[in-house]
Amino acid sequence: MEKNNNINFTHWFFDLDNTLYCANSGIFDQIHIKMGEFISSNLNVSLKKAKILQKKYFIENGTTLHGLMLNHNVEPGKFLDYVHDIDFSIVKPDNELNDLIKKIPEKKIIFTNANISYVEKILKNLNLENIFDDIYDIERMNYLPKPNLKTYKKLISTYQVDANKAILFDDIPQNLLPAAKLGLKTVHVYNKKLDKELNGRSKKIDYMTNNLKDWLQKWIQKN
Ligand SMILES: [Mg+2]
Repeated sequence: MEKNNNINFTHWFFDLDNTLYCANSGIFDQIHIKMGEFISSNLNVSLKKAKILQKKYFIENGTTLHGLMLNHNVEPGKFLDYVHDIDFSIVKPDNELNDLIKKIPEKKIIFTNANISYVEKILKNLNLENIFDDIYDIERMNYLPKPNLKTYKKLISTYQVDANKAILFDDIPQNLLPAAKLGLKTVHVYNKKLDKELNGRSKKIDYMTNNLKDWLQKWIQKN
């Protein structure tokens, strides 16, 4: 937090899952089961093989969906409808975090590899409806997920952002690197439960925290 604390950001971009709430405490478990079922029945493979493909595509392509689209011509809407048909009620609000997010006066935008209907359901359960200025979801990315550099360039041009005055929060370091390359400040919201293939550190990332509330609190105090 010591460096760059005098920047007035115009745009704050937030990933959703495992950044604004802990998806690893139930939501991802349900989605992973549904993904396995979908892949098994649509690709006509065993559940065991489906699980291997699910993880392989996630790691290699940014999302399992992108790998399925590239390798098997899977129709995205069909996949997303199936895997997001889950119990969202287990997602609960964190009022302290919400109060801090509401204190950010500049543009606040969700930047996620999920799709809009999923994002809206999660935000509703988090009591964060109508708090963000916009949601930049996988459909707006033309299904080209983070960490594809083209998607970040499109994001910047969409909002006409001066990259040096924008900041991105994400739990996956690889998703921060293209943003850092384009000049955005980056915050790795560290999550011990994240798959070890996806975790890691990089000197190109500006800040690292295992507690988004603490980070925002300190920022607000200093600015
Ligand atoms: Mg995430």
